[in-house]
Amino acid sequence: MTRPDFREEAAALFDETVAMRRDFHKFPELGFCETRTSALVAQRLTDLGLEVQPGVGQTGVVGLLEGVEPGPTVLLRFDMDALPIQEESGHDYISTNPGVMHACGHDGHMAMGLTIAKMMTKYQSGMAGTLKFMFQPAEEGLGGAFAMMADGVLKNPKPDVAFAMHVWTPEPFGNVRVVTGPCMASSSVFTITVQGKGGHGAAPHLAVDPILAAAQIITALQSIVSRNVNPQDSVVVSIGQVEAGATFNVIPDKAVMKGTVRSYDEDMHRKTYRRILEMAKFMAQSFNCTASMETVAIVSAVNNAPEPTAVVHEAAAKIMGDDHISTRRTMASEDMGYVLEEIPGCYFFVGAGDDGRFSYSHHHPKFDFDERAMINGMAIMAETVASYVLKDEG
Ligand SMILES: [Zn+2]
Ligand SMILES: [Zn+2]
Repeated sequence: MTRPDFREEAAALFDETVAMRRDFHKFPELGFCETRTSALVAQRLTDLGLEVQPGVGQTGVVGLLEGVEPGPTVLLRFDMDALPIQEESGHDYISTNPGVMHACGHDGHMAMGLTIAKMMTKYQSGMAGTLKFMFQPAEEGLGGAFAMMADGVLKNPKPDVAFAMHVWTPEPFGNVRVVTGPCMASSSVFTITVQGKGGHGAAPHLAVDPILAAAQIITALQSIVSRNVNPQDSVVVSIGQVEAGATFNVIPDKAVMKGTVRSYDEDMHRKTYRRILEMAKFMAQSFNCTASMETVAIVSAVNNAPEPTAVVHEAAAKIMGDDHISTRRTMASEDMGYVLEEIPGCYFFVGAGDDGRFSYSHHHPKFDFDERAMINGMAIMAETVASYVLKDEG
């Protein structure tokens, strides 16, 4: 068949996609608690005639759309979880769940995924291959992709190629980011505990102050990126949590700091940690304290394979035009990295921001995105998967 005009088809389904997105937005659910959400997703996929498997990785849902002829299996992944944030936006589809908010755009991802499923069912009779829809729970640092993988999402059938996308407000609406190679960073968490000796705030000479040592460590760690990392490379070291003391006139026993390291390269990640440990240890020592550190790996970098990325690039050029494709990377992280370690694929970003209402960063209490970006995302994704499973005739 001749290739459908997916931009036109996505635009025709825009209103119902917006309605689904806003419904998900009103009823956000945290990672692994997406019960209402995944029930809706499963119901919708069942109504569309897909073969549906719920409960994959706790609240995950898998939907299979099989063509009439054998061919490649293409995985399309959409994440479903919200964040523990109290929404502060002013629109009329604001979260009704106190302290929980779709502040990353996953509400839009689900709506896009369901509409893409609808778009593709129309072409099922001309399809050679299988589309495997992976609706994933708990993307926000809770390892939902891993939970679905442990439950076999990458088997029976095993995908030949995998795709995912993110609406992205740092990129203006009308653009798309497609990057070959690493496009999102690997992420890990570290906890440094500085042990001192508590005492009276008025007699500091009789105590060993862990807060002072921790303050020096925090300052010193910021020299790693500027003095130990090659300026051509990218590493982030951020401390996001500091806990010490209970009141103003007591020097506490210990101070605890939590932070994150981001990089595109495992070797660089290890080197950064060696420097963090050295600095924490010797800096603490110089203030008569001791320091210990624990680290937990969160996700590996998201690495886009050349061939599937070229297919996305071509689809994006067709839908958006060549001059609307950017190749900027981000130090944010994604557990899609785990999937792309096993299956070649591509993760891309759909520009959804502006200078006003849609300028808030992801995870901000006022976050919102330009919903028209969903048309672009759906069209690019449909065009991409079509090049694997829809046979072109002349
Ligand atoms: Zn997020
Ligand atoms: Zn996200």
